[in-house]
Amino acid sequence: MPDIAFEVAQQQLDKAAKVMNLDPAAHKILRQPMRVLKVRFPVVMDNGKTELFTGFRCQYNDARGPTKGGIRWHPDETIETVKALAAWMTWKCAVLDLPYGGGKGGIICDPKNMSDGEKERMARAYIRAIGRFIGPERDIPAPDVYTTPQIMNWMMDEYSIIVGYNSPGVITGKLIEMGGSLGRTDATARGGMYILREWAKKNKVNLSKCTVAVQGYGNAGYYGAKLIKELFGAKVVAISDSRGGIYCDKGIDADKANEYKAKTGSVVGFCGKKITNEQLLELDVDVLIPAALENVITKKNAAKVKAKVILELANGPTNPEADEILHKKGIFVLPDFLANAGGVTVSYFEWVQNINGYYWSLEEVHEKLDKKMTKAFNDFWAKCQELDVDPRTAAYVVAVEKVAIAMKYRGWY
Ligand code: NAD
Repeated sequence: MPDIAFEVAQQQLDKAAKVMNLDPAAHKILRQPMRVLKVRFPVVMDNGKTELFTGFRCQYNDARGPTKGGIRWHPDETIETVKALAAWMTWKCAVLDLPYGGGKGGIICDPKNMSDGEKERMARAYIRAIGRFIGPERDIPAPDVYTTPQIMNWMMDEYSIIVGYNSPGVITGKLIEMGGSLGRTDATARGGMYILREWAKKNKVNLSKCTVAVQGYGNAGYYGAKLIKELFGAKVVAISDSRGGIYCDKGIDADKANEYKAKTGSVVGFCGKKITNEQLLELDVDVLIPAALENVITKKNAAKVKAKVILELANGPTNPEADEILHKKGIFVLPDFLANAGGVTVSYFEWVQNINGYYWSLEEVHEKLDKKMTKAFNDFWAKCQELDVDPRTAAYVVAVEKVAIAMKYRGWY
């Protein structure tokens, strides 16, 4: 993600602030992160040499509760990206009405070239560096790009050693055996399906008659393709990954395509004809699900998008110029921080279960996720009806109002 990510986040906030006539003092506070931490810490590598790494943690705003957000390990990680992602987490938690603020963290490193031992030492060293700034009631990290449930377990263990007691609620996304929640694996896509279902009800769209294209076939994309068929009977006609895509008129079996990808490294060749990722976005389908990268729908291709609705499971797939074009064309965008909030919602459930030491069944998790997503959709929909703005701005207004009220009641302005 380019360093302008934080500028984009600020521009989106500015747009919403104008529409909602936000108090200038609240606007000023919300344009900047509350706290940004930069740490350097040593890790002994397998060759015996000690390397010095740089890590970040940004606590963007904690007016509504402890900050929450993932930790990325990436060679190109920057503080600007971390700040943008922390801002978006603030709006995501607010729009879902989770009792959290937003945060994000990162380490500049190349995990693809690290052994498990190096990863474990890195995870523990990072927690020793930021440990006093996090906690179940302060700031709760989670996995993100290139960090895994195992890495969360090491981090939770190191934090527990530092504080001197078991503290599973300090980090979410852990393995089930270590206090992780059931239902986390497909939560992002499942949450998105509940949002899509509610949109379809409002617009009298019969999802069982819809065709679907999914860009990206990882956690979000695969489960998106699988669940849209299982829950609604929709027909997935196109899928893709980093090597390209496929189009298959008869419909694509999500599980079989996933098995094929696991064997061959790509969905390309599984069935139908080969298409590019660019072609996938412009297909004549009813539902388009970007579930890979940011910035794929831009002013270059927005006018060529033919779908009725875009369910953004990826973070930031549509840029601000494309938002305007799609809105004018009457294509409804279910914005990322609402559409993909199922993941953080089940993370919140994990934290609640950890704090109470009482664990829920999968059915309970699904039922509670459905309630949360449906309520969030209805609040968002009401705002869309009230204001003549694009859907992303409407979602921003819902979120910013909640954070601004919390800051007001705390006496911050
Ligand atoms: P993932 O690593 O599991 O999968 C990513 C997929 O995208 C892979 O199939 C990869 O081949 C594909 N891809 C990579 N480059 C591509 C390209 N140029 N064109 C098309 N496909 C490409 O990642 P994920 O967890 O599924 O995340 C995907 C998106 O969803 C990201 O934007 C992420 O931030 C967002 N998201 C994920 C979650 C979650 O819980 N997994 C939660 C919220 C948001």
